[in-house]
Amino acid sequence: MRNHPLQGNQCSSKRRCVSINFLVLPGKLGTKTRVWAGSRTCRFARPLPDTVYYRLASDLAGGPFLMTEKLYYHDSYLRQFEARVVKSAQAAQGCEVVLDVTAFYPTSGGQPHDLGVISGMRIQEVVEREDEIIHRLEGPVPGERLECQIDWERRFDHMQQHTGQHVLSQAFVRAAKRNTVGFHMGADYVTIDLDAESLSAQQLDEAERLANAIVFENRPIHVQIVPEAEVPALGLRKESSREGPLRVVRVEDFDVSACGGTHVRHTGEIGSIVIRKVERVNQQARIGFVCGRRSLAAQQRDLESLAAVARQFSVGLGDVPARVEKQIQETRHLRKALQTKNRMLARLLAKELYAQAEQRLGCKRIKQLFEEEEVEFLKLLAQALLSQGNCVVLLGSAGTQAALLFAQSDGLPGDLRHILPACCELIEGKGGGMRTLVQAGGKNASQVQQALDLAEQRIMSVNSGSVL
Ligand SMILES: [Zn+2]
Repeated sequence: MRNHPLQGNQCSSKRRCVSINFLVLPGKLGTKTRVWAGSRTCRFARPLPDTVYYRLASDLAGGPFLMTEKLYYHDSYLRQFEARVVKSAQAAQGCEVVLDVTAFYPTSGGQPHDLGVISGMRIQEVVEREDEIIHRLEGPVPGERLECQIDWERRFDHMQQHTGQHVLSQAFVRAAKRNTVGFHMGADYVTIDLDAESLSAQQLDEAERLANAIVFENRPIHVQIVPEAEVPALGLRKESSREGPLRVVRVEDFDVSACGGTHVRHTGEIGSIVIRKVERVNQQARIGFVCGRRSLAAQQRDLESLAAVARQFSVGLGDVPARVEKQIQETRHLRKALQTKNRMLARLLAKELYAQAEQRLGCKRIKQLFEEEEVEFLKLLAQALLSQGNCVVLLGSAGTQAALLFAQSDGLPGDLRHILPACCELIEGKGGGMRTLVQAGGKNASQVQQALDLAEQRIMSVNSGSVL
């Protein structure tokens, strides 16, 4: 039995008794009323439950009118219910079903659809299409009367995130005078877009602190249908363009919003509201946050990551930032020392290689394969060799990756870029450069020697001994 504020003599379905007294007047209401009444447009003195509109539309149409009663509008906590099939059809994958009542929330207003089971058949998606709520199932359902069960973990998560959004949006109005212009509930984050290009750290802190203070105060949340005439006096956070009665969600003495989603009954159930990310998107500030179980899960993940780093350094959690900073400084110092040593090594090695190389037509040719050397070292070596005198340098590294570096003295004719493509093909890589200096990287390290030999052959085929 559900009581309605207006008492009268009408009585509806067996499932529940609704006593009402309503007026039918010419005029305009919402889209739904116009559709239900067919060619007639009706105005009601007060907003009424969907069941009443359904009965009225059926009377006007002279037969049953197919309209689903949205149980989630009245009770977000309803997890199990019975329903009757109004319509069903085969779909490309599975089956589409319309019920006379449903507690499954369809994707709308930034909130994703519910999941669950209808008489043993899993729901894949719930969508709203022209006043019909369509349940896409993995297969056909048996019989007319169905047992419906909501995936409560998913639904309650949506209720926590969605109510948290109302609170955080109002907190930004109060802490930063910024309005929410967009809302999206993703699988990981919930985001709101604020009409601000940027926000200070202080504004973010203040909004988060205020939002959580409202959570801790465990304020009641009221949902009511408000007649159109009374909407202007509500002081909605964001104006609504809807006609007719409005579903209004009020966080007591804090926020009033028009919303068709599912919410918790008290702010304490939100658990906590944690801002995790701030980005700039289309001249707006996008705030990524998590509430309830999601914030707990995020905190657990963060702790695991931090603990893993702390274990690596054998320090306590609180000492990690200082230890990482120290490590960065040490690495910088070592890199610098390594560069100095590499330059020295390159100079010594260049002298040796240059001295050993055969001189032909006033030019030396140096070909050298290394097991594993960084390209940076090959460059240093090539520079050191060129500074020794006229030469052509062919260097390669066959480590985890293949690397080639060819160089020649400026005064020599020819273009090293001409011999590079065939060598790149051998090492299955790509490269480029200038006439006198080219380099390439590839994934086939086993062919680096062949690539060096090929480069040498091409050079030797030119009688002058220089390149191409
Ligand atoms: Zn809402």
